[in-house]
Amino acid sequence: MSSGAKRKTRIMVDKEKCTGCKACMLACAVKHTGKYSLSMARIWVNEIDELEVVPNVCRHCISPACLKACNAGAIRKEGEVVILDMKKCTGCRACIDACPFGAIKYSNRLKKALKCDLCDGDPACIKACITNALY
Ligand code: SF4
Ligand code: SF4
Repeated sequence: MSSGAKRKTRIMVDKEKCTGCKACMLACAVKHTGKYSLSMARIWVNEIDELEVVPNVCRHCISPACLKACNAGAIRKEGEVVILDMKKCTGCRACIDACPFGAIKYSNRLKKALKCDLCDGDPACIKACITNALY
């Protein structure tokens, strides 16, 4: 991110602009794992029907239900950003059940929860979205 750019504290979605290309998911997976693996993404493009696709990602809630549900202390707030510490995550899925937006997924491979961390304020998904459905 350029030094003068404002750090993102939330990812906004304009579903009308989403084509369903999943470039955001791939960019997210590559940023976090170095692999082009959709299953490693922390943002998801949900296909509602043949013509409707909706990206879903963490809202970084003011009072996060996921944080309250996590008995392992793996979820914390850093300013306005809700962070999941993968090293502390036990994979119990309590956060997944608690999130009202379905914005945390379970990784069968890692046996842990996956959640958006906003890429330190410069989200890879936003940069990858050529239609500006994410901003
Ligand atoms: S994972 Fe869900 S509950 Fe937790 S901050 Fe994000 S949207 Fe809110
Ligand atoms: S799955 Fe991990 S982050 Fe989620 S509640 Fe359990 S320990 Fe916490």
